[in-house]
Amino acid sequence: MTDAPAPQRTLVLVKPDGVRRGHVGEVLRRIEAKGYTLVAVELRHADEALLLEHYAEHAGKPFVGALVDFMRSGPVLAAVVEGHRVIEGFRSLAGATDPTVATPGTIRGDLARDWGTKLIENVVHGSDGEESAAREITLWFPAL
Ligand code: ADP
Ligand code: MG
Repeated sequence: MTDAPAPQRTLVLVKPDGVRRGHVGEVLRRIEAKGYTLVAVELRHADEALLLEHYAEHAGKPFVGALVDFMRSGPVLAAVVEGHRVIEGFRSLAGATDPTVATPGTIRGDLARDWGTKLIENVVHGSDGEESAAREITLWFPAL
């Protein structure tokens, strides 16, 4: 028998629009239904410093100020999710960044839309690679 590969972890956020609109349960349900494991879950208000660090890759882009303001507009549900290839797997569950064209069946395709706001509101965040997952998990859950 070969050794099982080390499980991978990703950081998932249900953004303030998702929390406000009551989608926390549905997002967690989809993660669990897919077969991934919840390692940590916490509802919290993120401060500006945390969010600037979280979105460091977008520093200097025209939408980053609106993005941080939006992410501070209410509580977010932060979760660490585990499973083989979960980074890619959750991005696939989440769907495309632009909810208007996100495929129906995905979280964004089913639960998000364009409201005409400056910032794209799309219900969830998922880390986009191993490096960002490790960085984001340490940032949101330093005790893990
Ligand atoms: P993703 O969340 O799919 O990884 P990005 O990392 O590119 O997408 O962007 C982070 C978040 O910033 C997006 O989920 C969205 O909320 C917002 N965003 C991205 N690009 C734009 C844009 N051009 N205009 C407004 N908001 C944007
Ligand atoms: Mg991203």
